[in-house]
Amino acid sequence: MGIKSLLDGYGRFKKNEYKHQKELYLQLEKEGQSPKVLFISCCDSRCDPSIITDASPGELFMVRNVANLVPKYKVDGNKHGTSAAIEFAVRNLEVEHIIVMGHAQCGGVKFLLESAGKDIEDDFLTSWMETATEACDHIISIGNQDKKVDLQLALEYETVRLSLRNLMTFDWIRERVISNTLQLHGWYFGVAKGELYRLDPVTSEFKLVEYE
Ligand SMILES: [Zn+2]
Repeated sequence: MGIKSLLDGYGRFKKNEYKHQKELYLQLEKEGQSPKVLFISCCDSRCDPSIITDASPGELFMVRNVANLVPKYKVDGNKHGTSAAIEFAVRNLEVEHIIVMGHAQCGGVKFLLESAGKDIEDDFLTSWMETATEACDHIISIGNQDKKVDLQLALEYETVRLSLRNLMTFDWIRERVISNTLQLHGWYFGVAKGELYRLDPVTSEFKLVEYE
């Protein structure tokens, strides 16, 4: 796919999608956005939240980063793009739900597993993926005890659990979750079959979503 096919796609968007939803686009610009959902997912080109959920413009406030990671709350003067987007969604837009979605064959997770214990010379990736070092070590130790464990899949699941735990380190998220004005959700997208799984908060396992 080159730029030409993207611009052709824009032409189709204007003639179809925009034409049918023109009023919605006008209203969204005039009145502003009020999404109810903050959707945190991976940058990966295969797991687009809007496509998977068939969402309309204005419905999903989105953060996409490598391996759908939420770092722990930390105010240190550094540039925290993910935490800033989370803050805007929660404190300004007052979203009611935060969804963290992992996915199959995540390149960030693969990188983490392959680089564990090695010195990698890069500029940003290793440092970013350190967010999930503990989770990676945990999965590797489980794998050492049970050779049948699919480390890639187990760590993809674990990145979602980790991000949900880290969201709770933000005071203004924890308070809203406790007062039930904000709900946290863990999702996982199986790319090949287009299957969506949800994290069961009781068992902490992912279950396939049924649909009508
Ligand atoms: Zn990924």
